[in-house]
Amino acid sequence: MDLMEYQAKELFAKHDVAVTEGIVATTPDKARAAAEQLGVVVVKAQVKAGGRGKAGGVKLAKTPDEAYEHAQAILGMQIKGLTVKRVLIAPGASIEEEYYFSYLLDRANRRYLCIASVEGGVEIEEVAKTNPDAVKKIPIDPGSGVDEAKAREIVAEAKFPEELTDQAVTMVRALWTVFVEEDATLVEVNPLARLEGDVLEALDGKVSLDDNADFRHEDHARFEDKAAADPLEAKAKEKGLNYVKLDGAVGIIGNGAGLVMSTLDVVAYAGEAHGGVKPANFLDIGGGASAQVMADGLDVILGDDQVKAVFVNVFGGITSCDAVANGIVGALDLLGDTATKPLVVRLDGNAVDEGRRILEDRNHPLVTLVETMDGAADKAAELANI
Ligand code: ADP
Ligand code: MG
Repeated sequence: MDLMEYQAKELFAKHDVAVTEGIVATTPDKARAAAEQLGVVVVKAQVKAGGRGKAGGVKLAKTPDEAYEHAQAILGMQIKGLTVKRVLIAPGASIEEEYYFSYLLDRANRRYLCIASVEGGVEIEEVAKTNPDAVKKIPIDPGSGVDEAKAREIVAEAKFPEELTDQAVTMVRALWTVFVEEDATLVEVNPLARLEGDVLEALDGKVSLDDNADFRHEDHARFEDKAAADPLEAKAKEKGLNYVKLDGAVGIIGNGAGLVMSTLDVVAYAGEAHGGVKPANFLDIGGGASAQVMADGLDVILGDDQVKAVFVNVFGGITSCDAVANGIVGALDLLGDTATKPLVVRLDGNAVDEGRRILEDRNHPLVTLVETMDGAADKAAELANI
């Protein structure tokens, strides 16, 4: 889950990162009231996208009336396709220099990586291209993390000004605490600003949390924007399903992420011969294809109005095909009249004959059994194009 700036700053404050949280406002009136309290402020669009400043979503307001006007202009604005529903009213800071700092997961090298630059503020990708020497990449051993010595190494490598060394070390360690304690995959501060009077402060914050660690962080649920989430994705998540909504008309259910991904490809390919129909979703029901899991999966997919036909593609392994076939039959019974769209089923692998026999015996009017994956994709695409 990606966090908005004000949420990231909340986590920063919790772990003693030097930051000023500001006040979140959802209306121009509330923005004015916040500015009356804070003085000179910056009105900042809260959307999960970078480059808000460039898009006109970050504006200085010297008076409460100006804060009102900026909030009025920014609320409702679209930034990279996202509608601004909240603004952060942040105390205006006198910036002298802007630096860049981040921790992230370096999957390729199985480590963490710190990226730091004294040329922050603007898009770091641009600096990396035009002046790569100014962007320092410092690998972090996951075992030892960032202790005092490592923090000093990072600060020296990044070439933060000497007079800021102690503040920078404290900052770098506090941000590491955020990264580890909150189970983040990204913690980014751009700009990390040197303010008047040589004070170092995080003026922006971007945090991505690792959803796999959600069970350790009940308090992270509050960051979720339920209204913005796709209702089907929300429902799938509630039921513990791995579901991603796409735009096409062929609903896909498979077991195992690899099989589901190749199913998407095969359906997209087969669809070319049937009016260009495409997959409607990714749904991996994982290892246990019980009637309940199958029913939950079908329930989510059939709730998508764009879906015209469903392709169930299962390779029997630990869960054998007879169990899956029973799951499908059970699911159709559970769903009853709510199941209205044709289902193309392809089973292979462990106990495939038994599985097919179960479906043939049940002879459900919505179910078409096809032997091969290509054949089934073709049939599902054809049914979705009627
Ligand atoms: P984004 O990265 O989405 O453009 P930022 O929060 O980094 O948004 O803001 C863009 C720029 O606005 C910053 O680089 C900084 O120069 C300025 N800025 C941001 N917050 C403040 C603040 N509280 N006071 C003064 N200037 C700010
Ligand atoms: Mg920024």
